[in-house]
Amino acid sequence: MSQPAFTLGIDIGGTKIAAAVVADDGALVGYNEQPTPASRGAQAIIDAAVRAAEIGRAAGTHHVTACGVGTAGVVDTDGAITHSTDALTGWVGTNVRDRIAGTLGLPTTVLNDVHACALGEARFGAIAGFRDALTIAIGTGIGGAITHKGQLVAGATGTAGSIGHVAIDPPTPRRCTCGRWNHLEAFAAGPAIESDYHRLTGEATRLPDIAIKARHGDSAALSVIRAAASLVGRTLGQVVNLLDPDVILITGGVAALQDLIAEPIRRGIADDALPGPDRVQLLFSTLGPRAAILGAAAVARDR
Ligand SMILES: [Zn+2]
Repeated sequence: MSQPAFTLGIDIGGTKIAAAVVADDGALVGYNEQPTPASRGAQAIIDAAVRAAEIGRAAGTHHVTACGVGTAGVVDTDGAITHSTDALTGWVGTNVRDRIAGTLGLPTTVLNDVHACALGEARFGAIAGFRDALTIAIGTGIGGAITHKGQLVAGATGTAGSIGHVAIDPPTPRRCTCGRWNHLEAFAAGPAIESDYHRLTGEATRLPDIAIKARHGDSAALSVIRAAASLVGRTLGQVVNLLDPDVILITGGVAALQDLIAEPIRRGIADDALPGPDRVQLLFSTLGPRAAILGAAAVARDR
């Protein structure tokens, strides 16, 4: 009998790094998290990722054959970061693949964290079994991914699915984190909702608390959340006209606001989607933060 294959999965985010050994069936062994030393430079981030992976690997006697990494930022085909949020100091230009492979002594593949998350959901989560899926991750930014028959469509430069950087038609212009103007992310990501609430009420409130207020009927909280969700829906309505997916998966921190955002997103899609694409299913993540580890490990195992 051949030895079962295990793969290391690592998820490098802006605030935490998570890692685990992943079995073929998606079971996680030795899951652990480390805070991301985001301001201390690329080597510190790599060291923390390796530490998380080593703790995962030490949790059992599994025969680990490869490592997959999902990371914030755009990842080129050589496993290097070509574009990233300023939150990770010095991350752009880092060849994550070579540095982690060299330290762990394992063949390593690297992909964008939202791409990894979508792939994890397509193999083991809410969109498993769907043919064409569009995933949108709404948190401190807005990312996205396209999957087809359980495989990622990463694009020529690893950027496919960047739905947060689609332009919308806002009442007042805003600059996006990417430096361009009026992209969805600048109006509908978590920080945008928080700043809208602050502008309306004068209160600096974090998104989970704005959600609690909205659930208690606070009209300002309801209006900023619904406005952001509606913009997400309108954008999705245009994207489904282009891609005609079977299903849209909502994930990321804002997905926890499903009870508040599902309806305005649905209505926004209906406003712009053509007959056919307007019937797209709308689902919410079932795997949460585990999805990126599972997806990164799945890519490494496929190679
Ligand atoms: Zn942008």
